[in-house]
Amino acid sequence: MPERTNMADATPIRPIPAGEVTEWTYESDVVVAGYGVAGASAAVAAATAGAEVLVLERAGGWGGAASMSGGFIYLGGGTPLQKACGFEDTADNMKAFMKAALGPGVDESKIDAYCEGSVDHYHWLTEECGVPFKMSFWGEPGWEPPGDDGLQYTGGENAAPFNATIPPAPRGHVPQMSDKRTGEQGGGYMLMKPLTDKAAELGVGAEYDMRVQALIVDTGGRVVGVQAKQYGKDVAVRARKGVVLATGSFAYNDDMLEAYAPRLIGRPAASIEEHDGRAIRMAQALGADLAHMDATEVAFFCDPQLFIRGILVNGRGQRYINEDTYPGRIGQATLIENQNQSFLVIDEQAYEEGMSRPTSSPQLRHQPKRVAESVAELEAEMGLPAGALQATVDVYNRHAANGEDPLFGKKTEWVKPIGSPVAAIDLRGMTGGFTLGGLRTSVDSEVLHVSGEPIPGLFAAGRCTSGVSAGGYASGASLGDGSFFGRRAGISAARS
Ligand SMILES: Cc1cc2nc3c(=O)[nH]c(=O)nc-3n(C[C@H](O)[C@H](O)[C@H](O)COP(=O)(O)OP(=O)(O)OC[C@H]3O[C@@H](n4cnc5c(N)ncnc54)[C@H](O)[C@@H]3O)c2cc1C
Repeated sequence: MPERTNMADATPIRPIPAGEVTEWTYESDVVVAGYGVAGASAAVAAATAGAEVLVLERAGGWGGAASMSGGFIYLGGGTPLQKACGFEDTADNMKAFMKAALGPGVDESKIDAYCEGSVDHYHWLTEECGVPFKMSFWGEPGWEPPGDDGLQYTGGENAAPFNATIPPAPRGHVPQMSDKRTGEQGGGYMLMKPLTDKAAELGVGAEYDMRVQALIVDTGGRVVGVQAKQYGKDVAVRARKGVVLATGSFAYNDDMLEAYAPRLIGRPAASIEEHDGRAIRMAQALGADLAHMDATEVAFFCDPQLFIRGILVNGRGQRYINEDTYPGRIGQATLIENQNQSFLVIDEQAYEEGMSRPTSSPQLRHQPKRVAESVAELEAEMGLPAGALQATVDVYNRHAANGEDPLFGKKTEWVKPIGSPVAAIDLRGMTGGFTLGGLRTSVDSEVLHVSGEPIPGLFAAGRCTSGVSAGGYASGASLGDGSFFGRRAGISAARS
């Protein structure tokens, strides 16, 4: 596991008065901190709006977590890809789903703007930036499409409880790429490559190995630049119009995790060690407000092709969720509501069937360690009280015989009585994730002071902000709100 960043190691975080700056090493209209998805989108939008733009990136190149990501971008409301695959969607249905699934406590104005602007955002990505999507749908269970299909359900829209009241549509749009390798080279690369090519074409400058450390403010409280460390030297960078913070989450800052999202301690995932929360601290030091710091995305490390065909039980042998929902909902329910305790109970036939299906995540296909002829034997082997798992399976099987799951509403196509031999796959502790909370921003990506007023000259987007997810999550929400509100940050900064 990579080493974590501790705030104590960093240089002082307090805002630096502009009057103390003796030399501006770099200067631009808009200065963007972080060259991941939010930073690249901000840079393209600001440059398109006519601003001179300089991006400062801590790593040796652009990309961030976004380049390593699966690439899902949450888009809907009737995008050309949805239409080409035969799905109807509206901005209102998308809003209803996002407000129901990504809460509690969502910023409704952000979701409204996001959904109303989603089709336009698709066109911006494809036509202005050249992001490619294959016009095909992947309908099998899975974290990602195993091939290069462009569209998938990524939020549980077509599963209980949402499908009962909100017309479902798949909204996970994944850029086309062959030879994908999860966590190394995914669809996210095919989002970032066109975005950064576009930025270069527009004349956006970039400085690498440049770690932004503090904000520089004038006497009126306006942010006029940043202090950064480049090759071990402190440099001051002047922003004539505005600074955009886009440095990612705080998943790798143990102090902040302990304070805000302690369940993620020791289990950061789908993030990178550069996500140290520094930008959040820098803006806090200027009076910035925060939102939903306890919200976390939680991945569940098992192949959906397997668990959808069995039942998931907690440490007491009780079912706790419909297994056909978005795997990230299962991750959250496991970690947050069930003490990170989960077992997959599955019979041999269902296991073999799942193993024979295509998957994007063969590494998440676990072998059962406990196999028995009866559920009574299995629960004894698992160390559960006599009758606990039997009661669960009895109830499940009684209704499954009619293709029903009255407890959790799993869809009929996935409901089958559990037979024999039967196995338990130990999934205790098999979760990890990243933080979703951060700076409170306006719909125009202005960083808001605790007074509610925007902090002049300061903008932010991506996972250093609280975006569309306040608690729940859907795959694609991070690249989605990072690119959408990143664009808005760039435009706002350019006009500032
Ligand atoms: C394996 C994997 C799969 C994922 N799959 C998906 C998916 O399918 N869909 C989805 O929506 N999300 C996915 N995510 C999450 C998603 O990639 C991130 O949440 C998203 O990239 C956040 O955007 P961002 O711009 O805030 O951060 P990033 O894209 O990480 O960009 C932040 C950049 O800031 C830089 N930086 C950090 N600190 C500083 C500093 N002090 N100074 C200068 N630069 C700094 C970083 O080096 C980085 O380049 C996945 C992540 C991983 C790793």
